[in-house]
Amino acid sequence: QSTINKIAAGEVIERPSSVVKELVENAIDAGATAITIEIKEGGISFIRITDNGSGIAPEEIKLAFLRHSTSKIKSIEDLMNVSSLGFRGEALSSIAAVSQIELVTKTADSFTGIRYVIEGGKEVSFEEVGAPDGTTFMIRNLFFNTPVRRKFLKTAATEAGYINALLEHLSLSHPDISFRFISNNQNRLHTSGNMNLKDIIYSVYGRDITKNLIELDVSTQDMHITGFIGKPAICRGNRGFENYYINGRYIKSHIITRAIEEAYRGFIMPHNYPFTALHFQINPSILDVNVHPTKMELRFSKNEFVYQFVLDAITDALNRRELIPEVKPSDTV
Ligand code: ADP
Ligand code: MG
Repeated sequence: QSTINKIAAGEVIERPSSVVKELVENAIDAGATAITIEIKEGGISFIRITDNGSGIAPEEIKLAFLRHSTSKIKSIEDLMNVSSLGFRGEALSSIAAVSQIELVTKTADSFTGIRYVIEGGKEVSFEEVGAPDGTTFMIRNLFFNTPVRRKFLKTAATEAGYINALLEHLSLSHPDISFRFISNNQNRLHTSGNMNLKDIIYSVYGRDITKNLIELDVSTQDMHITGFIGKPAICRGNRGFENYYINGRYIKSHIITRAIEEAYRGFIMPHNYPFTALHFQINPSILDVNVHPTKMELRFSKNEFVYQFVLDAITDALNRRELIPEVKPSDTV
């Protein structure tokens, strides 16, 4: 069992940022409105994730660390819905197999919390402790028992950078949740949970980007797009600023990426890419999710329709901005 878990862990948990992704998604699933992420040395030696969500009931704790034990998926339809972030029931067992975990959790209706320690998949202790409602996971020494995997990690600074990028996406995709990210005791990102998308863009990207945005809010049958796209002037030499979220998740779709880039084609130089921060709400009935342990690829039952709608929506927004001259007071009659 422990070997199987270690192998499975390799598919789900590649690096510290995968641990953070899985644990933060669990916190979101648990209804948390505030999530704090602290790391040391790029998360290799230490990760702490604290949430104010539902907590885990005492009798559920050990079960949660068993492979394929998920409280979320009830049917293949649930999977297609992409409504819940968790869908595998493998994260906790995988993380536990390759690290030292200390968990403190308390539900609102228990009197005390539980502290559970599990190292390399082996239970170390399970005891009652005083704790606030919610859950704290501490992950120490990732891959301590799989030295080869540990060797594949990049420098602490690079690993911290991956986590930072992930948390930027999570903040942009969930303006209603407060995220705080602390790396080596330094505050790196903080959102308050009651910000609008533009405020979050400001905290992540700063003033120059925020000053140069065009707002988008368009819908059609089965699809609603809201958010912001950058004016052509703030394009970049890489795709790193093409942010979009589908039904609340950071998922890539070739169709959507192509439509966005095609819309900008006449507005920016070749090999430049736009800034976007868009939220797509898409009716799950036209979505098809191909699930692989780490990658999710999205397909649509109406590819042409999705492509054309996104292309038109962005082209219109860009034209509106480029062609209509700013109205000066003296122009008004
Ligand atoms: P999945 O998220 O796919 O269900 P995981 O292995 O990530 O699988 O988590 C297993 C279970 O542990 C979850 O289904 C949930 O019941 C519980 N759990 C994990 N993290 C939390 C958390 N932060 N708050 C409440 N429950 C949690
Ligand atoms: Mg999960």
